[in-house]
Amino acid sequence: MRLVLLGAPGAGKGTQAKMLIEKYKIPQISTGDILRKAVADGTPLGKEAKTIMDKGELVPDKIVLGLVEERVKQEDCKKGFILDGFPRNTAQAEALDKMLKDLRMPLDSALSVDVPKDDLMKRLTGRRTCKGCQQMYNVYYSPSKKKDVCDKCGGELFQRGDDKEETIKKRLDVYDSSTAPLIDYYKKKGILKSVKGVGSIDEIFKKVCSLLERE
Ligand code: AMP
Repeated sequence: MRLVLLGAPGAGKGTQAKMLIEKYKIPQISTGDILRKAVADGTPLGKEAKTIMDKGELVPDKIVLGLVEERVKQEDCKKGFILDGFPRNTAQAEALDKMLKDLRMPLDSALSVDVPKDDLMKRLTGRRTCKGCQQMYNVYYSPSKKKDVCDKCGGELFQRGDDKEETIKKRLDVYDSSTAPLIDYYKKKGILKSVKGVGSIDEIFKKVCSLLERE
């Protein structure tokens, strides 16, 4: 299964991706995660990306395309992959189509996770991640038992640099102007599937699986 996950920041793409990995045993490729790792490692690419990410803007297409190409060519992607947070605009989608055509591994589906704007804001501003084990919490919906301490490993919880209110507004604007048009792009290609991303995580996951398994 070769899948693209679409949806605004905070729609829960990452959560669904993690559950899909377990079920279908295929890797998740999150350009956001790859970029955050480069930032944490302090690589030259990470240094360039950090300033852009903290402003909520998109990292140049050339950089992300290179990262994705390198990743999909790896052995574990032969049986499929889930692209999460990529493509983010039409130019990236077209470049991805070309890349996958050349590699003879075209996409099967683009799954759009749809969530109303008001919910997105709360999900993003409330999001906290554990420094130790990366477990995610939300101060509004799923808080840790003790403030700023991970229930699982006792690690310290932090707020992502790009989850601050001003940056979030910018990220949602960038989504509307650059990424939302991809819904039409994949609809025209006949591979779009949409799911409402509200309700319990398990309920959404059930709907996702039945959509993906439907011919
Ligand atoms: P995410 O975790 O997917 O929301 O990504 C966090 C940030 O990383 C975004 O706001 C962008 O600055 C950058 N980023 C992630 N994926 C891409 C992409 N495909 N193209 C450009 N920038 C990206």
